[in-house]
Amino acid sequence: MTQEDNKQELQDRLDALNAQITKQGSHVRQLKKDGIADAIGEAVEQLQALKLEAATLQDKLQAGETQFNRKSFDDLILRKMFVIPSFEIHGGVKGLFDLGPPACALKAAMIDMWRKHFVLAENMLEMECTCLTPQVVLKTSGHVDRFTDLMVKDPATGECFRADKLLEDAIDDLIEKNPTMPNAEKEEHLKIQRQADAFSPTELDELLVKYNCKGPSGEAYSPSFPFNLMFQTSIGPEGTAVGYLRPETAQGLFVNFRRLLDLNAGKTPFAAAQIGLGFRNEIAPRSGLLRVREFCMGEIEHFVNPNDKSHPNFASVAGKELVLFGRDDQLGSGKTKTVAIGEAVKSGLVNNETLGYFMARTQLYMEKIGMDPKRLRFRQHLTTEMAHYATDCWDLEIQSSYGWVECVGHADRACYDLEVHSKATKTPMVATEKVDPPVGIEYAKIKFDRKLLGQAFKQDQRIVSGLLDGLAEDWKNFEPIATALDTDGKTTVDGFEITKEMVSWTKSSKKVHEVKFTPSVIEPSFGMGRILYSLLEHSFYTREGDEQRTVMRFNPQVAPQKCAVFPISSNAECNAVVDEIAADLMDSDLATRVDKSSAALGRRYARTDELGVPFAVTVDFETLKDNTVTLRERDSMKQVRLPKSEITPLLMRIVHGKLNWDAVTKKYPLVQVDEGDGVVAESTEKGPTVVETTSRGRFRRPAPQN
Ligand code: ATP
Repeated sequence: MTQEDNKQELQDRLDALNAQITKQGSHVRQLKKDGIADAIGEAVEQLQALKLEAATLQDKLQAGETQFNRKSFDDLILRKMFVIPSFEIHGGVKGLFDLGPPACALKAAMIDMWRKHFVLAENMLEMECTCLTPQVVLKTSGHVDRFTDLMVKDPATGECFRADKLLEDAIDDLIEKNPTMPNAEKEEHLKIQRQADAFSPTELDELLVKYNCKGPSGEAYSPSFPFNLMFQTSIGPEGTAVGYLRPETAQGLFVNFRRLLDLNAGKTPFAAAQIGLGFRNEIAPRSGLLRVREFCMGEIEHFVNPNDKSHPNFASVAGKELVLFGRDDQLGSGKTKTVAIGEAVKSGLVNNETLGYFMARTQLYMEKIGMDPKRLRFRQHLTTEMAHYATDCWDLEIQSSYGWVECVGHADRACYDLEVHSKATKTPMVATEKVDPPVGIEYAKIKFDRKLLGQAFKQDQRIVSGLLDGLAEDWKNFEPIATALDTDGKTTVDGFEITKEMVSWTKSSKKVHEVKFTPSVIEPSFGMGRILYSLLEHSFYTREGDEQRTVMRFNPQVAPQKCAVFPISSNAECNAVVDEIAADLMDSDLATRVDKSSAALGRRYARTDELGVPFAVTVDFETLKDNTVTLRERDSMKQVRLPKSEITPLLMRIVHGKLNWDAVTKKYPLVQVDEGDGVVAESTEKGPTVVETTSRGRFRRPAPQN
């Protein structure tokens, strides 16, 4: 089937679905009008299912339009060493990849822009915490107990699989093999598929049997069981102290909260940031770089008063339009909405300004590094998907050939993280804020019987009195203890049994000039590897009419190399000028590629295109006479002629976003060139020339005088 036929088939299916949606919609309205309450629920569910299916088809259609050529993309990525399977000559390891020279430079540029866009622009406190993390920290954060996926084994071979993915695949297969399956039945299966990662182990086991899932050996799978995704190790030679490679960078920032707050002179809101590796022992990594076992993350923890989540710079982004896929739309229309973030926060769709602020800043960052804005959307977590403590979460999803994939999570995690670490370490993790005018608060004025405390808790007595002092600061927190002591004569606080004799209290009130609170945390979490991979896909294209000529359209800011410099012939004089120009560019930190090979100039341009080098300078015989060179822009393949001394300052301005190619073409004369892949004929050395390609290759002829 041709791509066109395929597109037509998708469009036909979409039209048919839309007709069904209209019919079902009017059926629902009729049921509501007739007050047939029993049937409404089911009818609405069917309607929602139809809408979701339509949205999926719409996505497929859109993705088809971008005509991604995986074969030539994969070939380019490997051949030019963007990404290589790690330990390739030993057979490789699933989920581990090495970055080669162009991807290293690309990643460095992306990170540099990330630091400037977030860390420097907002005075964030940047840290580099260790990857090795002791068990107690990750036990406290909940990762030791809950950072799991459900896994099954093939009993014959011992091979492991992620249970929810097996179920998803089985449903895909079933639907594909039964093209005539009635829609209602299909929807039943799809509904199960959408909940695949929310089933309990028993439910999943039943479903794997129901869908006849068998291991590669042909035997039924083992019962499913939770598999913790963290890599465990031991710290120190005794082997007794359990540690893990961190699954995220965030915990290092949380445990340093008190010092960070001090460093920030006690002021909130403030943000800490960290770029570094995260490790997850993914059960069955696939989708190339999108699901790997070791990956670079960029995380920001913004600490803010839970009663005031406004952001001082929100006005600067309020008008920025984002494509939002809210939870109601995911369960309803299946369609996204384009909304200014200011409106989205005002209407309550996005919970608060700070969350909205970071979503908009993330969008701006993605645009800056050259991601295709048409393939970005923010998807809100369904309530069943969010952790119990989270207030609101929006994932920035990027569309690639693998579909829509979460690349940046934005979560309002409330006070959870600081509270659990504070409780486990008995360390106060609170901030204070001045209030003007002073406010009245109710508190408990307490007195201890130190002797009794000492007898009961010995060296822990300070911890116990500290805990009670903390609770007494706010009557709301102390009241349950007071009630328990009054009624039962004793109560337990953080595992310590307190008796009525140990402490006396009176409810009091006072005016205070500052209030204490545990900050809420708003966390944008970037998967740099996923972003890098998506950028590679978004940047890749083949020249129209020539499938063989592949190009990476990196913008000058992120491009691994900014400029290529070629001599037109291997003449020593030309080579000397090439070296001089390249040295000048590099002296200004503009990464430069020199290609003095004997390959035809067209081929040398094509090589730089594959690496995404945005500009190429060619030194020719004119240069030797008048010190001018040609400058070629990658995507338009247009060239201008300009003095060689102007190359570096010009590219500096372009790379820093102060000038664009359009302006360059207006300032300097265009050189007419038709690029080809042939050989460059000898230059005539007779005045300005243009280069042309014929079926015989490239030749040069005098340029028309203007
Ligand atoms: P997923 O559901 O895709 O496994 P997640 O919800 O577990 O992702 P988070 O815990 O929110 O992801 O991690 C933050 C970011 O880290 C993600 O947005 C993603 O970009 C990145 N990330 C997570 N797991 C991986 C992985 N295995 N490989 C590459 N990047 C990852």
